[in-house]
Amino acid sequence: MTPPVFAELVGQPDAVATMSRAVAAADAIVRGQPQDGQGMTHAWLFTGPPGSGRSVAARTFAAALQCPNGGCGACQACHTTLAGTHADVRFVVPEGLSIAVGEMRALVLRAASSPTQGRWQVLLVEDADRLTEAAGNALLKAVEEPPPRTVFLLCTPSTHPDDISVTIRSRCRVVPLRQPPADAIAEVLRRRDGTDDQTAAWAAAAAQGHVGRARRLARDPQARTRRDAVLAVPRRLTGIGAAFDAASALIEAAEAEASASVTETDAKERAALETALGAGGTGKGAAGAARGSAGQLKDLERRQRSRATRAQRDALDRALVDLAGFYRDVLVHSFQASVAPVHADADDLASAAAEKWPAESALRRLEAILECRTAIEANVKPRIAVEAMMLSLWRG
Ligand SMILES: [Zn+2]
Repeated sequence: MTPPVFAELVGQPDAVATMSRAVAAADAIVRGQPQDGQGMTHAWLFTGPPGSGRSVAARTFAAALQCPNGGCGACQACHTTLAGTHADVRFVVPEGLSIAVGEMRALVLRAASSPTQGRWQVLLVEDADRLTEAAGNALLKAVEEPPPRTVFLLCTPSTHPDDISVTIRSRCRVVPLRQPPADAIAEVLRRRDGTDDQTAAWAAAAAQGHVGRARRLARDPQARTRRDAVLAVPRRLTGIGAAFDAASALIEAAEAEASASVTETDAKERAALETALGAGGTGKGAAGAARGSAGQLKDLERRQRSRATRAQRDALDRALVDLAGFYRDVLVHSFQASVAPVHADADDLASAAAEKWPAESALRRLEAILECRTAIEANVKPRIAVEAMMLSLWRG
């Protein structure tokens, strides 16, 4: 039987089958019944492209392990695990670009204790590819000598050594997630969010396999406006000046989107820390405390800055993926391929561009976008990479 909690996962029948077997075997272990073999293991690695549902898979798996009914999705254990408040499930979510060793050591230590609710201690690392080397080593030690009731759930884009060390990977059972097909995404938008047929189909295609992105496009008018602006780029590239303008606009839009996404959290965190530090105290010892709190506030600001940088990169990358989708659609027309367009609502433009440009030139443009993503990943300043890309898109 498939645990109801796995209904959260979109288009992943193989992963769901693997996890369902593990949940049954894990339940037998908790009940002290003889184990039926190889279903359960203590370290898991969920891999898949962004938006495929790596962290959803890991979270629902954690819920099913903690649930006395094998993942009903409705009980206290399921709810608290999914909400991130279960006493025996610890989440590691990097604040900035990497997960630090101190944080990892503390979590590994906590995960080694016995489960308070009698089932499992779960340590879930959502972006294990962002572990620093030292943090990775701290995790490896724990994964190599796991306490009997501790489970490690790691998420990375792939099993490539750049994403996860070979030694950690060798200790894990891998659950590969695929890019969910557009019709599976559309189905979930209709069923779960009540999106109408047409919007669901359009958003699922435009999101190119990214479930969260599809949901934002279906629900958030601002996300649609930003996407429209990105898709307007190709026809605005009329000269060198226009190319530089387009680069600025793209960078600024990413900055605005990122700052909208972090501002609220930043303010909440700062207020919480100030309250904890007793801001405004004037009593005995307040001066010493103020010196200490200045350090903690600096620390928080540093974490918030690196999170803002991460959010900007993510927003810019989404824009680049949208733009690449347009040139991909142009190539679809050039070759008269019988595949559906990514951007159905910009397909007339793509078709017109295919009339005008030779296929090689559309391909060069597509490559310019992919090169820009690679350059930014290799820490080239985004503005420089995007300007170079816009010039190539203009020249063709
Ligand atoms: Zn449950």
